[in-house]
Amino acid sequence: MNKIELKKNFFEKGAKAFRKITGYGDYCYCCPICKGLFPFQAIKTGVLTMEHVHSEKLGGKPIALTCKQCNSTTGYTIDAAIVNRDKLNKSVEALVRKNGSYEGNYSLKMGGETINVNLEVHNGNVTINVP
Ligand SMILES: [Zn+2]
Repeated sequence: MNKIELKKNFFEKGAKAFRKITGYGDYCYCCPICKGLFPFQAIKTGVLTMEHVHSEKLGGKPIALTCKQCNSTTGYTIDAAIVNRDKLNKSVEALVRKNGSYEGNYSLKMGGETINVNLEVHNGNVTINVP
């Protein structure tokens, strides 16, 4: 199924579900984030976009249509939080469980002072570089 067919498929399912739940007469799609209503033409004009979980850049899969504004907002809020959580999980795995490697920036807080450092963990060996 190509991208347009997939969008049409999401639209059809969403519009049917919306009509069934609300009894609303017009054939439209409800953005699951902002609850805005959009006509079928919103697919062609690019107002309705494919929402991926995780983000498409991280190899995510399309799960629904959202309006362009919501998709953009989730891109820099929810997706960024997911990426940060993944980094945290990888660093904990490398630091605590000594499984895998990690390289990234960390904030160290000690005695009320905070400094940004670069942390490297390879085979359980920890290197902290202060830039
Ligand atoms: Zn929206």
